[in-house]
Amino acid sequence: MALATGVRKYGHHIDGKETAPSADGLDRWCPGTGEHVATFSRGTHAEVNEAITAARRAFDTGPWPRMSGQQRARILLRLAELMRRDSDKLARIEAEEVGKPIKLARGDVESSIALTEYAAALAMTLHGDAHTNLDDNFTGLVVREPCGVVGMVTPWNFPLLQLIQKLPFAIGAGCTAVCKPSELTSGTTLEIARLATEAGLPAGVFNVVTGPGSVVGQAIAESPDVDLLSFTGSTGVGRSIVEASKSNLKRVSLELGGKGATIVFPDADLDDAVDAAVFANVFNSGECCVSGTRLLVHEDIADDFLAAVVDRIAHVRVGSPLDEETDVGAMIHEQHRDKVLSMVTQAEREGGKVVAGGSDPVDSLPDGYYVAPTVVDGVAPGTALFQEEVFGPVLAVTRFGSVDEAVELANAVEYGLANSVWSKNIDVALTVAKRLRSGTVWINTVIDGAPQLPGGGVKASGYGREMGQAGFDEFTELKTIQIRTGARAKFVQVPQPGSPD
Ligand code: NAP
Ligand code: MG
Repeated sequence: MALATGVRKYGHHIDGKETAPSADGLDRWCPGTGEHVATFSRGTHAEVNEAITAARRAFDTGPWPRMSGQQRARILLRLAELMRRDSDKLARIEAEEVGKPIKLARGDVESSIALTEYAAALAMTLHGDAHTNLDDNFTGLVVREPCGVVGMVTPWNFPLLQLIQKLPFAIGAGCTAVCKPSELTSGTTLEIARLATEAGLPAGVFNVVTGPGSVVGQAIAESPDVDLLSFTGSTGVGRSIVEASKSNLKRVSLELGGKGATIVFPDADLDDAVDAAVFANVFNSGECCVSGTRLLVHEDIADDFLAAVVDRIAHVRVGSPLDEETDVGAMIHEQHRDKVLSMVTQAEREGGKVVAGGSDPVDSLPDGYYVAPTVVDGVAPGTALFQEEVFGPVLAVTRFGSVDEAVELANAVEYGLANSVWSKNIDVALTVAKRLRSGTVWINTVIDGAPQLPGGGVKASGYGREMGQAGFDEFTELKTIQIRTGARAKFVQVPQPGSPD
């Protein structure tokens, strides 16, 4: 398969300039074809410090936080236009580096443009509160200010979208940023830095340093000059980020792993629910934090429903990322593919029955790391496949007999990111939605969304919200300004001359 964009060689993006690519760069091979697609620079501690210094300067003395919201919004809208102009290139980079299907990558670019436009609207309307009804001589201003220099550390599954769930919101609020994308998939983040410069973003407002998380990510997390760290990734690394952030007690927001359930009641539109159960499992090749990786299905319909899922999943097209027909692309790398398959083997040892997939369909495909969409029936709540994030297209099926049992099963994992409920009975659907411990609940839809709607987790899925007004407010601090006017009632009573002692 011919490469769409050729081998890309990148430096970092620091203080509005691109550095020369480092000699010891990190090569990226497309996990769907094995072809060399990019080389990213290996950032050093000194380069991280340079980037943070540039962001600090841009925040403390640069024009960006002092501009009007309208001016910042204009630059964000220009960035959105440039993303639209380059959307094909961005999508292809994403497909090549992640191994995700090109049609999905196009959707990621579209969503990223919509988020940027929405963040521009919020930048324009950013405001605080005035309390003018306290008493006649007392006025309170609650001012919403940008929180400072934001560190952003992002994962490999949605490199562009995860960046854009943070960047336009943070800089729209007037913050400056230093980002470390995944060392495997840094291309689109660096392209966005170029586009942001072209859109007129002042130097130092958005900096990118690539390289391994243990060096570059760790240095950003530890830096006393970073005011907020916005992290998306695994729960394990999230914990180490919190530890590293203690130096200056910086604020931390964490978007971590998930173990979502698709919960199907007999009164659902079953054809829709079958399609959704498949989609929730195979979307982004299962490498998605909000995937529905557990199917909880009512025992009255379970056998027929499962047969329909197995039938439907056979039509999912696994293939090369740049093939327009592909529904499921490659796993991010070989070890991850092996880990996904080993979890299926473990599930079988723990009593599960593989009823679809379960093997690597590599024979019919180019040289890559593929996993056939897999369904495992009879997965018990105590087992690894029920509890642990697989990050591959592997669906764990468990049956329930009542609303209480469905809720209990759905909540019986350490994660709390997103679940979906399938029932046309509003009493059932809303009752279950309210009792689920997750940041998002979908009713009769799944992996859905809009820029206006916040997303994030509870429990081991993290804290903080992205997108929506709440996702914008994350990048701000409140300052309370209290104003007294008129004569002040004195604390110290000083005798007046001539008054009796
Ligand atoms: P990861 O291993 O946690 O890595 C995420 C980012 O952290 C990468 O940029 C990584 O750098 C960096 N990193 C690694 N060690 C670090 C350290 N000690 N200090 C600072 N940064 C460090 O996650 P991943 O494997 O890329 O992505 C998969 C995970 O992300 C899954 O668990 C998934 O659920 C989660 N995720 C969550 C959401 C959400 O919104 N809740 C969205 C997407 C993904 P390098 O990899 O370059 O070394
Ligand atoms: Mg990782």
